[in-house]
Amino acid sequence: MAFGHGGMPPPIEKGCPGNPALSRGCFMMSKNIPDTAKKEEDGSPVVGAPPTGKAVGGDPCEVMPAGLPKGPFPDKLKESLMRAALAEARAAFRESEIPAGALVCTLGGEVLARAHNRVIGLSDPSAHAEILALREASRLIGNHRLTGLALFSTLEPCPMCLSCALQSRLEGIVYGAREPKWGALGSVLDLNSLPGLNHRLSFLEGGVLAEESALLMRDFFKARRKNPAWDPGSPLGPNGASQDGVK
Ligand SMILES: [Zn+2]
Repeated sequence: MAFGHGGMPPPIEKGCPGNPALSRGCFMMSKNIPDTAKKEEDGSPVVGAPPTGKAVGGDPCEVMPAGLPKGPFPDKLKESLMRAALAEARAAFRESEIPAGALVCTLGGEVLARAHNRVIGLSDPSAHAEILALREASRLIGNHRLTGLALFSTLEPCPMCLSCALQSRLEGIVYGAREPKWGALGSVLDLNSLPGLNHRLSFLEGGVLAEESALLMRDFFKARRKNPAWDPGSPLGPNGASQDGVK
């Protein structure tokens, strides 16, 4: 890694690195959510929801961390890996869990572990997709260090998951939609740039298939509002319809 113990972090640059795909996935940050933005039942902005009004303070891409290279994955492979993570997110949807999916793979694209959000099913607040995928990958290779491996996540990881990734010495992260409420890679905070860390991501890319991830989130909350009694764990979605085709 470029920064050892006691090393100084690079200056935190802000702004979209001129990546159209990244821009497409760059949703409204919490501080920029206008009053007209969609809200959850508790009044908080819908995760992954696109802006519904003019951003306050300009382009939300201004909070994007920059300075890190994109991952080594060719576009086609990257999309294929994110589609696998999205399939996990859809599995979460079918289980009435927040639809987030993740996988851990080699830098050549070989998938070691994949998982989806299971906080309800496992009665475990730490059972985020990323944590479960990191945990399974570690178990499979018999090592708590995940050096040389990458995490694909349908959503920008939260501080808990990003902390776990950094402690595992993970190489880099590719994610889909930004998470305005909990995102730890620029949306709420930039955990990877905190001073004093003895490991940092060496690559980072966001916005990969972001629209699909965000749409899945919106569909999930829409379905849950329509049918608050939707049974967690049921293979059937709201109104008894199969969720296999949900996107
Ligand atoms: Zn998380």
